[in-house]
Amino acid sequence: MKKQKKPKTFKIRKCPKCNSENVGVVVGKDKKGEWECYNCKWSGKNIQEIELGEEDFLKYLDERGEAVS
Ligand SMILES: [Zn+2]
Repeated sequence: MKKQKKPKTFKIRKCPKCNSENVGVVVGKDKKGEWECYNCKWSGKNIQEIELGEEDFLKYLDERGEAVS
């Protein structure tokens, strides 16, 4: 069997309500798998997940103006 090289992808998570990336997992045993948005206080499981290739991801970071450390 040949090993296939998978392209590198990066996942970005966004709030489905306000499109902010300022989201995080809710901690707590009754809230398993839930996410919350620190921007608009949305919480739920249907977080927006976007998968980008390496090139698109770098472009995305560029547009965002975030310094890569
Ligand atoms: Zn939000």
